[in-house]
Order: sequence, then C-alpha cells, then structure tokens
Amino acid sequence: MGNLLSVMFLAAPLAAVKTAAVLNFSLLKFIFLVGWVYFCVYCLYRSQVSILVPAKWRPWCNLSCLFFGPFVITLFYASDRGKKLERGQLSIAELPADIYKTILGRKGLLSADQRADSLIELCDSEGHSFSEVYGGEGKSDRNPNEIIEFCQELIFDAISDRASDILIDPKSDGVYSIRCRIDGFLRVVRQVEAEKCVAVVNSLKVISGMDIGEKRRPQDGAFMGKLPSGSVFFRVASAGVLGGEKLSIRVINQQAQMLMLHEMGLSGKIYESLTNSVKQSSGMLLICGPTGSGKTTTLYALMNEIDLNSKNVVTVEDPIEYVLDSVSQIEVNPKANITFANSLRSLLRQDPDIICVGEIRDSETAVMAVQAAQTGHLVLGTLHSSSNAESLIRLTDLGVNNLLLAAGLSFIVSQRLVRVLCENCKEPAKLTPEQKQYFSKKRISTSRICKPVGCKKCNETGYYGRAAIMDVMDIDDKIKDKLCEGSLKLSDLKETKNSKVINKLRMEGLKKVISGITTFEEVKRVVNMGGV
Ligand SMILES: [Zn+2]
Repeated sequence: MGNLLSVMFLAAPLAAVKTAAVLNFSLLKFIFLVGWVYFCVYCLYRSQVSILVPAKWRPWCNLSCLFFGPFVITLFYASDRGKKLERGQLSIAELPADIYKTILGRKGLLSADQRADSLIELCDSEGHSFSEVYGGEGKSDRNPNEIIEFCQELIFDAISDRASDILIDPKSDGVYSIRCRIDGFLRVVRQVEAEKCVAVVNSLKVISGMDIGEKRRPQDGAFMGKLPSGSVFFRVASAGVLGGEKLSIRVINQQAQMLMLHEMGLSGKIYESLTNSVKQSSGMLLICGPTGSGKTTTLYALMNEIDLNSKNVVTVEDPIEYVLDSVSQIEVNPKANITFANSLRSLLRQDPDIICVGEIRDSETAVMAVQAAQTGHLVLGTLHSSSNAESLIRLTDLGVNNLLLAAGLSFIVSQRLVRVLCENCKEPAKLTPEQKQYFSKKRISTSRICKPVGCKKCNETGYYGRAAIMDVMDIDDKIKDKLCEGSLKLSDLKETKNSKVINKLRMEGLKKVISGITTFEEVKRVVNMGGV
C-alpha cells in the first residue's frame, strides 16, 4: 500500500501538469489544479499524523485524501463544527460568520488541524497506547474507537479548561455525570448515558492498570496523556458507590502548574521573607493551610528559588507532582512500606542539604523533620492546619516538644487561594454604603474594586485562575524564648492593633480586593471574617 501511495503521490502533481498541458492552457485552470493538488497533499499529510483515523482505515483515508483533499477538509470542518454546535460552544446564529471567516481566513482548516494535533493520546503509565492496552477488554456493543475518542476528548477538554480533577459518578436516573474541578470549584461538564459511561470507566480503568472485574473494592491506578507540548499524568481512584462505580482522576500537569515564586501574586514583603527563608542553611519552613489551599504549589515554587545543582536536595512526596532536575525524589507507597517516616530516615543518612517533606501527618515524621532542621539541614514541609498559631499546637500535639520547636522552626506560612477576577470581563463594582464608609474611614481608594461578570473565556463564572494570600510568621527570639519557657499562649501569637486582633490573611485578601484582583466574596469564602 505504501509503494502504491508513493507512486500516486508523485502521479497526482504530474497528472495536474499533464492535464493543464493537454487542455488549452488557461492560467485559471492551472491555478485551480495546483491548488487542488496542494490541498490533496496537505490533507494526506494530515491524515497520516492524525490519531482521529483508526489504523485500519488509514490506507483508505490516505487514498481519498489524495484525490478528494478539499472535500475531506470540508468534512473535517463540518464534523468539528457539528460537535461544537451539539455541545453549545457555537450557536446556529454564529455559523454564517464562522463559515465566512473560514473561507477567508483558513480558520476552519487550522481548527480541524488543531483538533487532530492537539487531541491528547492516552497511554498507560509505561507509555503503551490505548489501542495496544485496550485489546479486547472492556468491550461493549459500542465501537471501541468511539469510546477511546470520547475518553481522549473528555481528558483533552478538561486540560484545556485547566481542571485539577475529573470526577465521573453515577446518578440515580441511568445517567452518569462528569464533573471537573476548575479553580477549586466543581462544575458539571457533561451528562452521559450509563451504558456509554460504563464503557468509558472500563477503558480508563484498563489504561490505569486496574482490574475491570473488580467494581466494588477501591482501586488506584495511573495513566498518562501525550500532547504535542509534553506529557500530562493522571492518578486515578475507583470506588463502588450506590448505582455503579465512581472514578476520580487527578490531573498532574507539569507544564501548567509549576509556578515561580514571583508568579504567585505575593506582596513584596512576603516575597522577600520567603526568598530569604530558603537561603538559610538550616531551620524549618512550614507551609500550612486546609486541603486545596495550594500548599504543594508553593512548596515547588520555593524549590524553584533554590539552586538545585549546587545543593543536595531530597524530597519525600505523595504523589510526586513535578519531576525536578538534580533532585532525588521519593514517592510514598504504603503498600510497599515506603512511608514518610522511613523514607525520611533513609534520606537523612545521605546527608542532604535540603529536605522537602510533602506532608507532615504523623508524629514520627514530625519529630524527625524538626530534628533534621535543628541539625544543620534546611527542611521544607507542609502541614494541614488552618493558621500559624494552630500549626504550633498541631506540632506539639504530634509529639514535638517545645525545646525542639524553638531550636528547629524558623518560619510558618499560612496560605489560602482566592479566585482571580477574569481580566476579560470584570467591571467596576458598586459598593454598599457600609463598605464605602469603611474604606473612606481608612482613606483607601475604592476606584479599582471590581465585580465578576462572566464571559466565554471564564465559562461565565467571572473568575479565571487563582492567587495565593499568605501570612508569614517569623519564629523570632521572643517566640523562641516563650516556647522554651513553656509560657507561650495563643494570644501572644496574634498581632493586635488598638486592642483589635489583626487577621493577616484577611488583610492580604483585602489588599487584593482593593487592587481589583479578587472580590470581597472570595476573601470571605476562604478566610473566616466578620462583615465588611
Ligand atoms: Zn470572563
């Protein structure tokens, strides 16, 4: 077939020239023929690289591309726009304008291109493609290619929407709902009939290396997606729930989420104290906050500030979210008895300069981490707690004694994530009389305060992306003395002004509201605060 194709490949342009020569030469006809051949060859090239075309149909597709290129391109366009119409991403009213643009601007051609190009190719964790792994397993009456295509489209759309999680769960009425967590909020993206979705769940389980026969017991797995720009990893957990099987997919997108510290929207003072903290040669920097407050992102951003080549850096993580050059990373795996505590113990024998503990959750890890910080290592870690003061209590609770805390701990950072207003659609906000009064009393300009509106870019939510607000606590000599004496009270840790307790997170949040980055509602949502 290949030889035949290459003969035809050469034959087509020759035929064009011949035809032009035999007929009375006409420039218009010649241009038309050259154009036709160009589109045929172009289309042939597209169909070769396109994963939209199943392997067994490829020769036939190549043949039809070779002779009917412009028609095939039109078909691609029609199917692409048809899908968009069905999903409501394009309305019938916009169609004439879209066709006009396509004819003039080759936009349709490019989008048909991108669709084929940018569609993700799903592989198992070892890099075997869907069709290699899929074999005969998980078959339903449906065409497996249709299911694979659906999975790829689903995952691709989720990545394009910047989703951090994809949840597939059965509902009571024979329908599965597929939701994506975007900027911390779950949103239903599709409703799929049960029969089709079971096949989708099975396919994703197969590629994640799970047993598809086991539908009730919870299972874990992983798969990856190949994009032209690089690979994206997915951690999958399944569980039998009422009405079927639930699948939770965590997106680990190296390229999208790896931030530098200066990209996190921090205020100058906080940025400075954080960069200083990682320049120290020993001590412990603890990042705390509730689940989903971006602790891990900050941890990696801090690691990015370190010259990783000149230091011996080791990490224990659950899971490894980003692969870092010149860093020894260990992933926790309780099944293989690789825990935070015993990994940390073995790492300490390698005498590292910097140790990064993904999460401190048991007393053995806590004590070891603080001890390491005290004995000449720089330790970075995260802790699940709601404020700086509570982190101290939590560490004491985990069995770290006060003397050790005073000797080891150097910084605690509390953080939250607020959604950032969409630049495309935000509008100046109208303040309530109370809010106006509050700000005029403090002589703060309110001209930049904005409200969310909603547009296509932000999926009508009015927000796009998130920013961190932080409260950094320097464990200074005063606090250390009190820790050693054992006389530290919670009230000592809370800063006061005119006998009013200052909530630094709230202050940081309000600064972001005043500069039009986020809204009061967002700050209120993430920081417990009284009315403004
Ligand atoms: Zn918007």
